[in-house]
Amino acid sequence: MRWDGQTLGHERADALPGLTGPAGLIRSVSTPEFAGITFHEIAAKSALNRVPGRDGSVWGWTINPYRGCSHACVYCFARPTHQYLEFDGGADFDRQIVVKTNVADVLRTELHRASWHRDPVSLGTNTDPYQRAEGRYRLMPGIIRALADSGTPMSLLTKGTLLRRDIPELVAAAQRVPVGVALSIAIYDEALQELTEPGTPSTEARLATVAAVRAAGLDCSVFLMPVLPYLTDTREHLRSAIERVAAAGATSLLHSALFLKPGVKEWFMAWLQRTNPDLVPRYRSMYAGGAYAPTAYRSWLRDRVHPILREFGLPVGRTDPATGSLLVGHAPARRSLEQPSLF
Ligand code: SF4
Repeated sequence: MRWDGQTLGHERADALPGLTGPAGLIRSVSTPEFAGITFHEIAAKSALNRVPGRDGSVWGWTINPYRGCSHACVYCFARPTHQYLEFDGGADFDRQIVVKTNVADVLRTELHRASWHRDPVSLGTNTDPYQRAEGRYRLMPGIIRALADSGTPMSLLTKGTLLRRDIPELVAAAQRVPVGVALSIAIYDEALQELTEPGTPSTEARLATVAAVRAAGLDCSVFLMPVLPYLTDTREHLRSAIERVAAAGATSLLHSALFLKPGVKEWFMAWLQRTNPDLVPRYRSMYAGGAYAPTAYRSWLRDRVHPILREFGLPVGRTDPATGSLLVGHAPARRSLEQPSLF
């Protein structure tokens, strides 16, 4: 396992930031409660990761208290980040979970630096902060409090219903800073959801979490992502999805088509071959040109989704151009890539 070569405060696309070298590994733990999963507890030396936006002209900030994710979504675009640790991006990503046990303390130190400008910070854009491990480690309350205490806006995206535990923390934080909450709910067919996201809470449970966030007085968006071509893009599925999201009280919805970058594509296609072999040629053709679905497909999908959103009175949410999370506070400033790191 490679733990070296880490750079404080700067997230490489393929790197797992914040590890301290071999001394950072405190212990590896397996328990009957989490059968098949090993937690690697580490002392991180950084919590805030600086990430460049897709066009490289903006910076954003993220925190990943965990690396790897037991939610195990077959389409997860974070899988290749596990390879930097010399884990694989397939089963290891789902079962070998790195836990930054000191993340809240390290974060507090970073947020107190004079160089911290209180730019919005996103959680859940790489791995899920409310995956099952959070029930054991309880890292999020300390993170939320540290961000709120420092006056830093925050945005959370999760599939984890464990978020409900921290609603009082989020309500308290929202009195002081902008707080964005979003649930990721892509699949509204129970059997397909269990096949594609085997470690996640059910769609119904996530919709109930949306309702609980709204009942507490906070806005809550839904990320209907990814839409899977030929599997979840029928008018019937999309209409049912949006109707249920609206009924749960969501304040906005964002959608996008499946993104298959190298390192994810192989894992996803192997799954597709097992579950829907007849679709393999069509996916090969669609994603032959790169990681994104073809422009024509994305336009077709938008034209299908937007009228349904209007029918149910759901606005389209806005994303942070750097992190892809829900936009909260101000949009990130445009910065030169040559600008030195703040840390
Ligand atoms: S919940 Fe998010 S981070 Fe976790 S496996 Fe699914 S897509 Fe990846």
